[in-house]
Amino acid sequence: MVLSKDRLRRYLNVKREYSEDKYINVNPIQRGGVLSKEARLALLEWGDGYSICDFCPPQTPRLDKITRPPIRDFYQDLAEFLGMDEARVVTRCREAKLIVFMTLAKPGDYVILDSLAHYTSYLAAEAAGLKVKEVPNSGYPEFKVDVEGYASKIEEVLKETGRPPALALITHVDYMYGNFADASRVAKICHDYGVPVVLNAAYTAGVSPVNGRALGVDVVVSSGHKSWASCAPTGILALTQEMAKEVLRPSSIEGDLTKRRFAVKELALLGCTVMGAPLMTLMASFPHVVERIERWSEEVEKARFVVEQLERIKGVKQLGVKPKMHTLIHLETPCFYEVSKRHKRRGFFLYEELRERGIVGIQPGLTKHFKFNVYGLSWSQVKHLVWSFHDIAEKYGLEVA
Ligand SMILES: *Cc1c(COP(=O)(O)O)cnc(C)c1O
Repeated sequence: MVLSKDRLRRYLNVKREYSEDKYINVNPIQRGGVLSKEARLALLEWGDGYSICDFCPPQTPRLDKITRPPIRDFYQDLAEFLGMDEARVVTRCREAKLIVFMTLAKPGDYVILDSLAHYTSYLAAEAAGLKVKEVPNSGYPEFKVDVEGYASKIEEVLKETGRPPALALITHVDYMYGNFADASRVAKICHDYGVPVVLNAAYTAGVSPVNGRALGVDVVVSSGHKSWASCAPTGILALTQEMAKEVLRPSSIEGDLTKRRFAVKELALLGCTVMGAPLMTLMASFPHVVERIERWSEEVEKARFVVEQLERIKGVKQLGVKPKMHTLIHLETPCFYEVSKRHKRRGFFLYEELRERGIVGIQPGLTKHFKFNVYGLSWSQVKHLVWSFHDIAEKYGLEVA
C-alpha cells in the first residue's frame, strides 16, 4: 500500500486546534481530564507500547502486582482514596460497568438505573444481557431523580420475576444537568432488599471527595479521562472485599490438550488492562487529584457565580436542581434562540461569537439550551466567560440586568 500525499500530510500534521493553552474549553467532558504537568511528562516517558511491563513479576504475572513502577501501591492507595477495599484500573468507566454487570448478574436479570443514567450504563447492561428498569425524575426544570423510586422499582421486579434485581446503579452526578443524587439513600433502600449498589462516579470521583464506604455502596466506577487528570483510556473500578471476590474471580479454564491453566489472571479483566502511558498519567496525576478534591467547594462557588451572572441576561435560566452542587451547568437560553432566527449564521452564531472570544466547548449550533463545565478554570477565566456572554448578549440587543 502507498499512502497518498494528501493522506500523509493529514496523518503527519496532527496539531490540536483546541489545546488548553489556546482556548478556554468548557465542554463538560473536558475539564476534569486536563493533565497535570507531571502526567504530561509521564505520557512522553511511558509512551512506548508495553512500557510498564519490564518488571512484571514472573511468579504472578499481572499488572496489579508490578512494583516498578509502583502500580501495586497505587492500586491500594486508589482503593483507600475511594473508601473501598480493592481497586483496578480498566480502560473506561463503561468497561468497569460492563465488568460488574457481567460478573454480578446473569443474562435475563434486571438492573435498576436512574433515569438520568449515561447511555453507556444502558449499553453495558445490554451487552451483559440484562434488562433495565428506570427510576423516574421530576422532569422540567429540576429533573431531580426520585431516589425513593428505587424501592418501587425493586418491588416491580419482585412481582414480575419472583426475585430481586441483580443490581442497582445510581449516577452520582448526571451528564445532563449536573444534579447530585443521594447515593447513601439509594444504598440504604437497595440493601434492605439485598440488592448491591454500583455508584457511577464518572463526574465526581477525582474532582470531588467520594467515599464509597461512607456512602454505603458496593462498587464505585469512574472515568480517568473525565475526572482524574488522566489521558484516555482509563477507568476506575473499586470494590468492597465481598464484591471483589466475585468480580475479580481468577480464570479456571484449562486447555484440553496442553492442560495449560491461567489461574493467576483475573478473568473479567482478561488478565491485564491498561498496560502503558494512560495508566502512568493517572498515577502521575494522583497526588494532584488527592490535593485538588479538597478545593471542591471553591469550584462549586465558581459554578454558582457563573449561573448568577448569566441569569442576569433576560430569559436565561439554569436547569437542574438549584443551587448548583456541581460544576456542570445546563442553561435554557430562549433569548439566544431568538437571535439565531434572524442571524445569517443561524444557530452557529453563538459558538462562533464565543470562539472569537477564546471560548470553545459549547456544542456548535445549539442556542435554545446548552451545557458547559467550569471545573478547574481560574477566577479570571470564569470572569472572562461571564464577560463574553454579557458582551454577546449586548451586541444582539438582549437585556442584561
Ligand atoms: C462520561 C460518563 C461516562 C463515560 O465514561 P467513559 O470512561 O468514557 O466510559 C459514564 N457515565 C457517566 C455518568 C458519564 O458522565
